Amino acid sequence: MIVKLSNKQQIPFLVNKLKQTKFDYIYLSDKQEFVIPKLNDKSFLNEFSNSISEIIEIDTPFQLSSNKYKKHTEININGSEISNTAFSMIAGPCSIESEEQIFHTAEFISSKGLKFLRGGAYKPRTSPYSFRGMGLDGLKLIKEAATAHGLNVVTELMDLSLLDEVLEYVDIIQIGSRNMSNFFMLAELGKVKKPVMLKRGMIAKTNEWLLAADYILSNGNEDVILCERGIRSFDPQMRNVFDVNVIPLIQSLSHLPIIADPSHGTGEAKFVYPISLAAVAAGANGLMIEIHPNPKTALSDSNQALTFDEFDNLLNGIHVIRESIVNLTV
Ligand code: PEP
Ligand code: MN
Repeated sequence: MIVKLSNKQQIPFLVNKLKQTKFDYIYLSDKQEFVIPKLNDKSFLNEFSNSISEIIEIDTPFQLSSNKYKKHTEININGSEISNTAFSMIAGPCSIESEEQIFHTAEFISSKGLKFLRGGAYKPRTSPYSFRGMGLDGLKLIKEAATAHGLNVVTELMDLSLLDEVLEYVDIIQIGSRNMSNFFMLAELGKVKKPVMLKRGMIAKTNEWLLAADYILSNGNEDVILCERGIRSFDPQMRNVFDVNVIPLIQSLSHLPIIADPSHGTGEAKFVYPISLAAVAAGANGLMIEIHPNPKTALSDSNQALTFDEFDNLLNGIHVIRESIVNLTV
């Protein structure tokens, strides 16, 4: 339940009452709103009725990411939009590897009219012996390449100790699957002024993912984007199972934009095309695709990276699906 107060003077009294009754709550000071998730019986609030401007009842554990709280999230990133009603493409290599690689990719992406360049500088690798990214040098390179071609940078924040460094170079902070449940980190991201793309944990249920989003939202950052990147299953045949169901499911529950990542969702370049089209048909608000000038030489996730030609072909396929969807009336 969200309780909006019209009268500031009553705030300490309501806080006192909540403390006495031991209800969990969060107070959003910017908005004069109380989030009280387990409050089912409104009679508790009777004595404050003159100071309450609105009560929104929300019967799910997640509150601020619920579409009962809000219908739309529109995020403007230097003039480009990511929202739950738009469609946006993010592309780039898994890792930033060299000046040549990232500039070449940035040039290609901008030649396609796209606005978001991804690339990891600090990589979460399963093995400590694998390439773990170029670090700060990589951040500087992706920012230079993006600036040279009028693009926005999407890069992963691996640890809070890197927050200030990453904030200087990034336009959208990516939180990877492995950090979706790093609640202290999420709460801190609620205090920053940049959008956060929250990838789904590889074993996260929808509720858990949306509650993770609530950690960011309830700390004051309203610019949260969800990213479905596949979940672990019993079947080792593919890297992950891309959960196409979760796209319409999220859209029925939440106002947050949902981007699909079929690159990690499948783990194989040849499956990125069909699963991307499936995600677009299911209503995704965008795709994030790993591409590389020469995938065979990629230092991470080389199996799933598309060549520029393959990506070009994918853009055509996406266009066809999007045009067809517009003409469908369900
Ligand atoms: C990535 O986007 O390169 C990445 C590491 O993704 P995930 O956190 O989904 O594994
Ligand atoms: Mn990757």
